[in-house]
Amino acid sequence: MKTIAVLTSGGDAPGMNAAIRAVVRTGIYKNLQVYGVIQGYQGLIENKFKIMDASSVGDIIHRGGTKLLTARSEEFRTPKGREKAYGNLVSHGVEGLVVIGGDGSFAGASYLAKMGIQVIGVPGTIDNDIPCTQSTIGFDTAINTVVEAINKIRDTATSHQRVWLVEVMGRHCGYIALESGLAGGAETVLVPEEPFCLENIVKKVRRGRERGKLHNIIVSAEGVGSAMDISKQLENTYGLKTKVTILGHIQRGGTPTAFDRILASRMGAEAVFNLLEGKSNRMVGLVDGQIKDFDIDFALRQTKGLDQKMYQLAGILSI
Ligand code: ATP
Repeated sequence: MKTIAVLTSGGDAPGMNAAIRAVVRTGIYKNLQVYGVIQGYQGLIENKFKIMDASSVGDIIHRGGTKLLTARSEEFRTPKGREKAYGNLVSHGVEGLVVIGGDGSFAGASYLAKMGIQVIGVPGTIDNDIPCTQSTIGFDTAINTVVEAINKIRDTATSHQRVWLVEVMGRHCGYIALESGLAGGAETVLVPEEPFCLENIVKKVRRGRERGKLHNIIVSAEGVGSAMDISKQLENTYGLKTKVTILGHIQRGGTPTAFDRILASRMGAEAVFNLLEGKSNRMVGLVDGQIKDFDIDFALRQTKGLDQKMYQLAGILSI
């Protein structure tokens, strides 16, 4: 193998830059020519290839977002779009491609692998919704951002003795809500994987108030429904007034934590080693402290269940 390429796709995540850096520098260390593709799969289709050298990834390890830019490409979902992308890879002599992104990006990577390019996926998404890895790149930074917000909201919630609903990202996956709720000491965590009952939330708030609790924080993943609607329901049905904060896209950006930088560095390098070993249609994942690789199609067939023990613990610690 002489030439590889790297791209970032789907939602940006803090640590993607550290992963790009690791791919580029490991590739150069192994005497490979490395291309960066601008704007993910759309850039592959539009032929946006850029030769990367060691200094082109300098000064980015600490930056959020992605230096290679990202995109959501509808064209790549079509066979014609993928043919164009494949043709441009071949015309640049690219034999191996590293795709840094979420599960949608992995679905695209699987198509390219079947067309004949060696592809390795690196899980980069704040949602932590990819199976076969305990953490995705960006998740740790995102939950730290949420915890910081919860800390601030708690000051005001306590001072004004209020119930506060904090809506966090997670359309199908409750990991951001669960782990930030646990770390932030939330009284209630609402996740799409688990049913919930508003009446029980109200009872818990009232129990808390009876024993002198001044604040009450409810962290809800966007996948359980709009926090504004939940707030209205709590007021209209149970007479419970709540304040709502929707954290939105501030959860995506920001300087990556040391954990995410290290994870991204290890995964990016491992992706290049995998390519050099002739592997394809594999994703790298963190399992028991080690970076391992898994078949992408196998990973996409799995559902990453919520850590039930952790979910129960969040309930126990917030009695
Ligand atoms: P995040 O989890 O942060 O949203 P993602 O990688 O899941 O990241 P998507 O928008 O789902 O984000 O996917 C990124 C891109 O991958 C899409 O814009 C599309 O170009 C490509 N893609 C997604 N799903 C498929 C698919 N089933 N077939 C081909 N390409 C796909």
